[in-house]
Amino acid sequence: MAYDFDLYVIGAGSGGVRSARFAAGFGAKVAVAESRYLGGTCVNVGCVPKKLLVYGAHFAEDFEQSAGFGWTLGEADFDWATLIANKDLEINRLNGIYRNLLVNSGVTLHEGHAKLIDPHQVEINGQRYTAKHILIATGGWPQIPDIPGREHAISSNEAFFLKELPKRILVVGGGYIAVEFAGIFHGLGADTKLLYRGELFLRGFDGAVRKHLQEELTKRGLDLQFNADIERIEKQADGSLKVTLKDGRELATDCVFYATGRRPMLDNLGLENTGVKLDKRGFIEVDEQYQSAEPSILAIGDVIGRVQLTPVALAEGMAVARRLFKPEQYRPVDYNMIPTAVFSLPNIGTVGLTEEQAREAGHKVQIFESRFRPMKLTLTECQERTLMKLVVDADTDKVLGCHMVGPDAGEIVQGLAIALKAGATKRDFDETIGVHPTAAEEFVTMRTPVAG
Ligand code: FAD
Ligand code: NDP
Repeated sequence: MAYDFDLYVIGAGSGGVRSARFAAGFGAKVAVAESRYLGGTCVNVGCVPKKLLVYGAHFAEDFEQSAGFGWTLGEADFDWATLIANKDLEINRLNGIYRNLLVNSGVTLHEGHAKLIDPHQVEINGQRYTAKHILIATGGWPQIPDIPGREHAISSNEAFFLKELPKRILVVGGGYIAVEFAGIFHGLGADTKLLYRGELFLRGFDGAVRKHLQEELTKRGLDLQFNADIERIEKQADGSLKVTLKDGRELATDCVFYATGRRPMLDNLGLENTGVKLDKRGFIEVDEQYQSAEPSILAIGDVIGRVQLTPVALAEGMAVARRLFKPEQYRPVDYNMIPTAVFSLPNIGTVGLTEEQAREAGHKVQIFESRFRPMKLTLTECQERTLMKLVVDADTDKVLGCHMVGPDAGEIVQGLAIALKAGATKRDFDETIGVHPTAAEEFVTMRTPVAG
């Protein structure tokens, strides 16, 4: 049968755009559908605008610390509307770049909501198109628990477009988004509380990292409330919100921001017209080559719920394009040693196993740690400390994990990830000459284990 397209991609986000562009480059006839915004979550309501807001929040401490270096500044004043307007301009520019990338690589762009009609057919804007392969790359959507007053809460989607910086804000959750946004709002001057339902936030990160960040954020005046869960939210006559916690406490605030995970975006996608199956958590179930239970339909990125990070969606998109249209270049995605950063202030950077994971996996471990005051702060009042930690296999000397909390941890961990991926041993780290004076050199100068 002759199809309209070799590949029809639903969703022009991180994974969809990468897959569509490369498939077209390999000579396939490709279309991509996008219902909302080119570039997807990362470009519009994720990584990029988030990082711009983090930079914005960072200035507060830069201004404060500059006094130690001899600077006298006037009273600092911050205007949220300017930051948001400038962020929007930059995102518009990026949307244009994504459009050009697609069009210039020969991909047909359909702007509208795409729905599956059958295993080889998609409907968009009243038109139907057939394709040999269909790739679902529809990403995710914020998930807010169903509590009374949920309609008064916002998610990250709305946080990027608030008209004003709230005077008081409650951020709910203990994952990436909650921790990053609590830092943003606190840094920009909002009275910020972070509420997390468990004992300590950032479940799954190394224990020392979690504790260290807790201490650093508390030092900065961020109000961290653990073992705290919201029962209901009520709007008051003056527009403020009354929040009642499950333990009976009441808190007054102007904004409640839920960052409690993301669900797969499957709304009105027409999956019922196909044999695609979902896994127990509701994400699209695929095999190791991203093939769903329906042979002509593949899925990648957040909608499969493996690792919800942009570089992972990119790698999956590339793998699909290669497997379908350039099989000689196909290599499976390696999910080991994925580096990641939490852009809190200070940052977390991490790659490989946590101490807890290494012990659980049966490794005999040696732990190396360095805690110090960054050089830049020695001329300032700031008492922030950096943590660096290596988890080493005592039998093989292999470095199993690197973890850092401190300025630029996200930047530093990228290079370490290459070393770990290449199988570096502690001896390789020890024999590497440091770059002086940097914080990063501490990673090659830790000599004495703190725990075995
Ligand atoms: P998406 O980028 O979400 O793209 C899916 C696209 O499909 C969207 O554009 C959507 O409009 C479109 N779509 C959905 N349904 C349809 C339909 N039926 N028809 C047509 N189009 C449709 N990751 C990092 O690596 N680093 C970070 O710093 C980072 N920060 C983040 C901050 C926030 C606040 C959030 C929410 C996420 C962040 N992420 C970060 C995660 C990252 O954004 C995602 O992992 C990534 O965008 C997933 O890419 P994707 O291609 O799977 O989906
Ligand atoms: P996460 O899955 O990281 O965290 C969700 C948090 O919400 C957890 O602390 C969880 O608690 C808590 N939670 C879940 N359900 C409830 C509930 N019903 N009531 C109260 N708390 C609840 O999700 P995020 O929304 O923070 O981010 C989504 C994903 O986006 C991340 O996992 C990450 O992959 C990606 N991302 C990456 C970033 C980066 O690379 N820098 C930045 C932002 C997002 P518990 O731990 O107890 O389950």
